[in-house]
Amino acid sequence: MSTPAPIPTPSVRGPVLVCGGAGYIGSHTVRQFEERGVEVVVLDDLSTGHRAAVRAPLEVVELGNRDRLAEVFARVRPAGVVHFAAKCYVGESVTDPARYYRENVLCTWNLLEAMRATETRCIVFSSTCATYGNPVKLPLTEDHPQVPISPYGKTKLHIEHMLQDYAKAYGFRVAAPRYFNAAGAARDGTLGEHHDPETHLIPLVLQVALGMRKEITIFGEDYPTPDGTCIRDYIHVEDLADAHLRALAALQGGASELFVNLGTGTGFSVRQVIETARKVTGHPIPARIAERRPGDPPELVSGGTRAFDVLGWKPRRTALEDIVRDAWNFLRAHPRGFDSGAT
Ligand code: UDP
Repeated sequence: MSTPAPIPTPSVRGPVLVCGGAGYIGSHTVRQFEERGVEVVVLDDLSTGHRAAVRAPLEVVELGNRDRLAEVFARVRPAGVVHFAAKCYVGESVTDPARYYRENVLCTWNLLEAMRATETRCIVFSSTCATYGNPVKLPLTEDHPQVPISPYGKTKLHIEHMLQDYAKAYGFRVAAPRYFNAAGAARDGTLGEHHDPETHLIPLVLQVALGMRKEITIFGEDYPTPDGTCIRDYIHVEDLADAHLRALAALQGGASELFVNLGTGTGFSVRQVIETARKVTGHPIPARIAERRPGDPPELVSGGTRAFDVLGWKPRRTALEDIVRDAWNFLRAHPRGFDSGAT
């Protein structure tokens, strides 16, 4: 499928401080800022991010360190912040919620306070469709009730509320794109997804194709979906990155509160993902059925047109085959992540 022509992205004023810019979605976003000539500074503690994914100036700072944060703000004087840094494993958030409240909620509060102490007012924050909880109607539009079922989703919703309150009380301009399933990799194969441990479906399926795993486990085939496996809305990471640039441009242009879904509006089942990966890789990819994974709703698909209406954003690389192929090209070039592959 051919990729539609881009809708021009409005210009962004730098410098932009990208927290978590060494991570998966952050590094793609940094790359797009750079491609548009916007000055970027990355702030990352490298706990899960990768130095090799960053070419921009990098401040290795923990968001828990308020003194270092204040020093970076005083020196960089950002015209905007894009905030990706967070813990993002649903299962871990259930067994260790303290970590999620500290590293997501408390660290974001530190960041907002560093902004409040200076002139910086615009922030784009990574939120998630996990803030909706179990869907009561599909597709999920932004007005769907937000009743998260995991501590991870709850911490993201707490932060959305903090942002709204800071907007009202202190004149912050805030955007919280709610991602569906981020997937794919840079089309040139130089940036992509590397988590340790890996838990996400597409990279795991591709690791089987590369001979790094014996089989893929399908978590449940008795869901009320056409083939019995869970349906998700996979959104290309480069499309996600583009939405962040648009969101920051909108805030700098005067928007004050933007809460938007970022998905394609089309869902694919676990079986469809595996089938697509078989086609892309030419590998049989053995699959084994297992129990349902706790906390997985049967179907999560984005609905509505708000991101287009308020940001002029439309996903462009939406074919599942393209998404899987980009991820495959990255994995083949970096089988053990950035530190091992040919970067
Ligand atoms: N999944 C699976 N086997 C795996 C990993 C994931 O069947 O080894 C399923 C999971 O249950 C969910 C879908 O694939 O229905 C996407 O899961 P992923 O962890 O990639 O993203 P999530 O939807 O949890 O954000």
